[in-house]
Amino acid sequence: MDPESFKDFAKEMADFIANYLENIRDRRVLPTVEPGYIKPLLPSEAPQTPERWEDIMGDIERVIMPGVTHWHSPRFHAYFPTAQSYPAIVADMLSGAIACIGFTWIASPACTELEVVMLDWLGKMLDLPKEFMACSGGKGGGVIQGTASEATLVALLGAKAKKIRQVKEEHPEWSDTEITGKLVAYASYQAHSSVERAGLLGGVQFKLVDVDAKYKMRGDSLAEVIRQDKEKGLIPFYAVATLGTTCSCAFDRLDEIGPVCNKEEIWLHVDAAYAGSAFICPEFRYLMKGIERADSFNFNPHKWMLVNFDCSTMWLKDPTYVINAFNVDPLYLKHDMQGSAPDYRHWQIPLGRRFRALKLWFVLRIYGVENLQKFIRGHVALAKEFEQLVLTDSRFEIVAEVVLGLVCFRLKASNDVNETLLKRINGAGFIHLVPSKINDTYFLRLAICSRFSEKKDIENSWKEIKLRADEVLEEQSVSK
Ligand code: PLP
Repeated sequence: MDPESFKDFAKEMADFIANYLENIRDRRVLPTVEPGYIKPLLPSEAPQTPERWEDIMGDIERVIMPGVTHWHSPRFHAYFPTAQSYPAIVADMLSGAIACIGFTWIASPACTELEVVMLDWLGKMLDLPKEFMACSGGKGGGVIQGTASEATLVALLGAKAKKIRQVKEEHPEWSDTEITGKLVAYASYQAHSSVERAGLLGGVQFKLVDVDAKYKMRGDSLAEVIRQDKEKGLIPFYAVATLGTTCSCAFDRLDEIGPVCNKEEIWLHVDAAYAGSAFICPEFRYLMKGIERADSFNFNPHKWMLVNFDCSTMWLKDPTYVINAFNVDPLYLKHDMQGSAPDYRHWQIPLGRRFRALKLWFVLRIYGVENLQKFIRGHVALAKEFEQLVLTDSRFEIVAEVVLGLVCFRLKASNDVNETLLKRINGAGFIHLVPSKINDTYFLRLAICSRFSEKKDIENSWKEIKLRADEVLEEQSVSK
């Protein structure tokens, strides 16, 4: 492709993107295609000769869009949001052009250095304790991981290396395998599945701790499980506190869990994948009370801070354990500046890494902190409005406290009726929700996801839910 064609192609694509996003509300949020739909629309082999970019543009509506779930539609309320914005899209273009693999500082100094500064900017926006930040001049610092799952695993592996070293000082006769067999990690029953999975990947036991009536892990419950495990000869080494659980956006009591972990010399990792973005607003920072006790903290700007996937920011008070845990140093990756700036390959699982900090830089500059705060507050206000709408209908109940942009609700009826309601809603395809279940209670989750969401969208979503509830309840009464 010559540069002139590239410019035309890119301009056409920019038009397409703006048109797609600005009119996304008009599309059916869930596609109706069946598995295998795309195969008959495509030739069975790659073209031998070049095709025109105009033909590719023409195929986007024909081939791709029928199979797209429109995550950025204001009618999409499933899971948690995934972020998207124009500046982040443009930054990804530049990242694609530079196309460096920033595994070491010398592999592209700007890639590493912008990341260090962005993580300081962002850390300050959240008012993280200075021990986490490179600008404090201490050991601490931040890194961009691909996902929160990777951050949880990286922290676990750092904690494991640290504890093995510590135990070996007391018991030099114990082998690594012997010690690993005794290691045990903790999180709440409500922690994301990726947390338990980190235990499987890290080859250690993971215990899920009971939660209180508000679905929060409490300090005393954790302390009791640790006490029992120590009696059995196990070695507690790692705990994950979740701020904003996936099921119901509950907040573990970090202020109680922190002292327990510190006393027991357990690495405390905080998973705030969704909720962390809200901490850029001072009024939500009470939710991370006790953060100074944590060893590592992670949240996903790619969920709720207008930075496209993937951008999962992680801070470590002392990255040395993680760096040492992964440090394999072949000659071809060595460079003269080693030690004077981070070589991020030591902070993550893969070797290769994209220039993700550009997305943060563009978004933070184009929006400014004020507008990002406004965006978060807008979503929380919409969730509160939806909660009020639910409360006006006595057939429904709210299942968990609405703290940020997630509302958990259900019909005051059996799980089966609620399952039927959800099927009916998703089947109609006007809005999209996913369910959850806590203690055998099945409920529906409505997350405010789109940056285009307005009051009228929430009202329309509620109208749709009520309509489907009318249908389901009427069928129930007829069949009785
Ligand atoms: N932790 C929590 C609390 C989440 O809600 C999620 C995803 O929604 C994750 C972790 C996993 O995030 P990721 O896809 O970035 O690994």
